[in-house]
Amino acid sequence: MKALKAQRAVHERIEEAVEKLRARGVRMTPQRYAILAYMLKTRAHPTADEIYKALSPDFPSMSVATVYNNLKLFKEAGLVRELTFGDQASRFDGQVHEHYHAVCVVCGRIDDFEYTPLKFVEREAARLTGYTPLEHRMEIYGVCPNCQLKRATETSGDVHAAAGR
Ligand SMILES: [Zn+2]
Ligand SMILES: [Zn+2]
Repeated sequence: MKALKAQRAVHERIEEAVEKLRARGVRMTPQRYAILAYMLKTRAHPTADEIYKALSPDFPSMSVATVYNNLKLFKEAGLVRELTFGDQASRFDGQVHEHYHAVCVVCGRIDDFEYTPLKFVEREAARLTGYTPLEHRMEIYGVCPNCQLKRATETSGDVHAAAGR
């Protein structure tokens, strides 16, 4: 029931996004629709390359450049956010509301979490620097549950190996 409701919400968001693009004069093509739907469904903050790999079986003529250009288009329309991490490939976020991220330093996975936006930090930044704050990003870096589990099993494996000696 809950999954069905979530599915319907995604469907509505896709329809809204299509309308928003149409209003900006962006023509909908099957490829563009597939990239848009993928972005609004995923929680994984993929790179353009990952999206390309996921969709290319269905769209053999699609290129990474097509994916990238569409993501730029969606970004300009305010439908996705681009997350840059130094010189690594940009990651794209289908959740455009204010939220924070936890980043795994082992596998690079990124998870969303909700927290009251830290507006007071922006106010402090304005007071201390004289800047007009526009937005801020915050990531918590750590080890994700999967990698914790992997580490735990590896460690217990070591224990068994040691005991067998
Ligand atoms: Zn991890
Ligand atoms: Zn996110």
